[in-house]
Parts: sequence; structure tokens; C-alpha cells
Amino acid sequence: MARPTAAERFARFVNPNGPFALIRGALGPCHLWTGSTDPDGYARFWINGRNRRAYHVAYEWAHGPIPAGLEVDHRCRNRRCVNGAHLRALTHRDNVLASSNIAAYRAAQTHCHRGHPFDTDNTRRRKNGTRACRTCARDRRAAQDATVHHLTPTTLRKAA
Ligand SMILES: [Zn+2]
Ligand SMILES: [Zn+2]
Repeated sequence: MARPTAAERFARFVNPNGPFALIRGALGPCHLWTGSTDPDGYARFWINGRNRRAYHVAYEWAHGPIPAGLEVDHRCRNRRCVNGAHLRALTHRDNVLASSNIAAYRAAQTHCHRGHPFDTDNTRRRKNGTRACRTCARDRRAAQDATVHHLTPTTLRKAA
């Protein structure tokens, strides 16, 4: 069998049915990385003998080389997302600004990004003061369990 291409190896680590980011400019669902991540939660991918941030690779495949001096920004604010349509190149300043705009946008929300109400029962305050949706947290835990099962055969093959 032919050696898989980088794109084929990459695709094995992607769940294209991630959550929809209801943020302007982030169309369609997030493509969630199910492979390894670094301690900051960013996806990592081995390519051309280097361990790179997977969303940098995804950006380059979708848009071409990352312009010098710019940072790749997740429009959807989801670090595990590798959907080229959710990635854009920004200056560091604009990247920081985009993050604070999102923080203001979130504070004004009455519902989570998937449409669950931020009411007393469904809302948990994080230590940093932002609100977390309990329904989404439950769904994430369920998805994580599914991911663990999904990854087991791959992990075993690697170990063999
Ligand atoms: Zn995304
Ligand atoms: Zn929710």
C-alpha cells in the first residue's frame, strides 16, 4: 500500500462535525483535532520532519503561506479547530483585539454559542468570571468519551 500523504494522515485526526461557531465570519462547523495537542491546547502535527501546530498547516493548505509577521487567528476561538475557513492571518494587535471583542460579545450573550440559555440552572461561573454552559459541558464530556474510544485502535496500532 502506498504511503499516506500528509493530507491523508492529517484527515485521520480530524472530526469534521465539531460545534458550529455562531460568530460572524466563522461559517460551518469547527473541524476538531483528535490527535495530540500541546499543553496550551493547540493541535500538533508531524510534517516534513517537524512537529508543527496543526492549524498552521491547515491555514497554509487553505490560504497559502502564513504572511511574514502575522499570526494565525481562530475566528471561532476554538484552539482545537483546524477548519481552514475558520482561520485567518492577523497582526498580533488585531489578534488581541479580536479576543477582547469576543469577550465583550460573550458577556452580552443571553444564550451559549449553541443556543442553550444562560439561566440560573444552566450556568456555571468560571474562576475568571465568564459563564460556562452546563449543557455544553455535559455534551463535551460525552464527546470526549467517544474520542477516547475512537482513538484506541490507532493508539494500539502505533504501539504494535
Ligand atoms: Zn472553528
Ligand atoms: Zn450550551
